[in-house]
Order: sequence, then structure tokens, then C-alpha cells
Amino acid sequence: TGETQEWLQQYVDDWVAFYRKHINDGSVATYIPELQKADPNDLGIAIIGKNGLSVRSGDTEIPFTLQSISKAITFIVACMDRGVSYMLDTVDVEPTGEAFNSIMHLEMKPVKKPLNPFNNAGAITVTSTLPGETSDERLEPVFQLLETMLGYRPELNVDVYESERDSSTRNRAIGYYLLEMDFLESDLDITLETYFKQCSIDVSIDDLARIGMILANDGMDPKNGEEIIPRQVARITKVLMLTCGMYDASGKFATYVGIPAKSGVSGGILAAVPPRVREEIMPFTDGCGIGVYGPALGDKGNSIAGIRLLRHIATQWDLSIF
Ligand code: GLN
Repeated sequence: TGETQEWLQQYVDDWVAFYRKHINDGSVATYIPELQKADPNDLGIAIIGKNGLSVRSGDTEIPFTLQSISKAITFIVACMDRGVSYMLDTVDVEPTGEAFNSIMHLEMKPVKKPLNPFNNAGAITVTSTLPGETSDERLEPVFQLLETMLGYRPELNVDVYESERDSSTRNRAIGYYLLEMDFLESDLDITLETYFKQCSIDVSIDDLARIGMILANDGMDPKNGEEIIPRQVARITKVLMLTCGMYDASGKFATYVGIPAKSGVSGGILAAVPPRVREEIMPFTDGCGIGVYGPALGDKGNSIAGIRLLRHIATQWDLSIF
């Protein structure tokens, strides 16, 4: 009802205003020069419920690139294309406890495969399984899935892509390790080009909230009952979001927030809140997707105000899946 809507809006506006003060504890990513242009003062959130209820607050209109959030999308596309068991043979599903761009586990014997699809090593390996000769051909199913979920085709941010490509020594180092270990299924250069492009797709917080809502609903679009992502793939993706989605802060995020989520160094966070069983009525008890943008990052590379805002909301509305 309109009353609920107004009440929700009031709360979320207050919380965003409060957590905006926390951005000073973080700073924007600098290792990709183009990302440095983001305004550290920005903070926005969009929440889309399964039943149509939605709230948006703060800086809602600012586009940002998917960055590591794209790792969830390419993993889904690869599972839909190659099958779940094939992908689980290709990458493991274990958290590393290390930074997203860590090389360490590729050196620790015995290494049978990259530890998970959400660190750079695993994500680059997943990207190497996408079929196609060129990076654009390989990204086509990624764009198609995004278009199905969002209702429009998002665009590549060429400036971010070029910046990322031209400052990619570490990802190239990871790529060469993967090549040496025989983990890559296709050409390294094309794989890296595809990876940099997937990270450079522009989205909004509403887009992330929509994707989160579909994942929360086990891959089904609640509007028409259409299965966009197979249930099993949606489930595994949420498991990975919970265990590996916030890099080496995933344990703390699961402890204090308790929601499957995936972050990116642009400051975006995609969260999927499945339905919960509750005695009393709380907002979004039947599940929702949440998109957050706050480019000031904490020391693990996650939006600092974004995480604190999510923690607050999860506590207030009892969103934890546990
Ligand atoms: N494009 C970034 C990288 O490869 C993505 C990392 C991230 O968002 N954590 O370094």
C-alpha cells in the first residue's frame, strides 16, 4: 500500500543519509585509472521485492561497471552452456581467504584447478570456457542473459575497458600462471580481452536489484514464471556469493549480514535475499534483490558504506538467510 511505501522510503532515506558519512573510511579504487574518476561521496541503493514492492534511495542514477559482479554472470552463462558438472570440474567452489587477485593458491601444491569462480584466477578460467572466436562473440550470451533479465541491452564502457586492459599486469600474470598450469580452455589473449570487457559493462543499482531478485527467486522471473536461470545454477551461484562473493571479507559478511552477495571494485554490490519464514511481517519477507553503489572501498575492495548499509538493513528487517 501507499502507506507502507512511504514508511519504507522514509527509513531507507534516513539510513542512506546516515551511512553516507561512512564513506570517509574508504577510498575509490585506483589500480584501474578510469575507476579513480568515481565520486567517493556517492551512495545509492535499490531494493526490488518479488511482489512488486520496491524502494530506491540516494544516488540512484549513476552508472558504474560490473567489475567482479560480472564473474557471477559469466559463471551462470558457462553453467548454462557447458553444464554444471563440467564447470564444477573446471573450477572448485572453495573460498580462498585471500584477496581477489591473489596468485598464491596457483602455486600451492597440489593445484588441481582454480579455487573458485569468483576470484580473478577462477573467473578468467571460466571466461576461457565461453565459446567463440572473438571477445565480442564470447560475450554475446552474457549480453543476452543480461538483456533477458534487465529488459534492455547494457553497454560496454569503452573507457573503463581500455583503462583496465592497459593496467592489467597482475591479471596477465595470473593468466600466464593459468596457461602454464593448463587450466585455460582457449587462447589467453582473447580470454583476457573478454574478461576485461565483461568487467566493463555499465549497469545501475536497479539492474543489480533485478538480477538479485531473479537469483533470490531461484532463477525464475516472478512476473511471468519464466525460468531465466536453471534452479540448480541459481542455487550454486548463491552459494558462491555467500562463501566467496565479498572476497576475503565473505566470512564477516555472512556473519553480520547473512545474505548471498557479490561485490565489484567499482563499488557495486549485488545481493539476493531469498524468502524467509517469519511469524511477524517484515518488509520483503518473500524475497528481494538489492543493488548498492558506493565507490569508496574498504581495505578488502568492497563498498565500505554499502556493506554497513546492508548490515543495517539486514538487521532491521531480519534478512539473514540463517
Ligand atoms: N576488473 C577487476 C580486476 O580484474 C575486477 C576485480 C574486482 O572487481 N574485484 O582486477
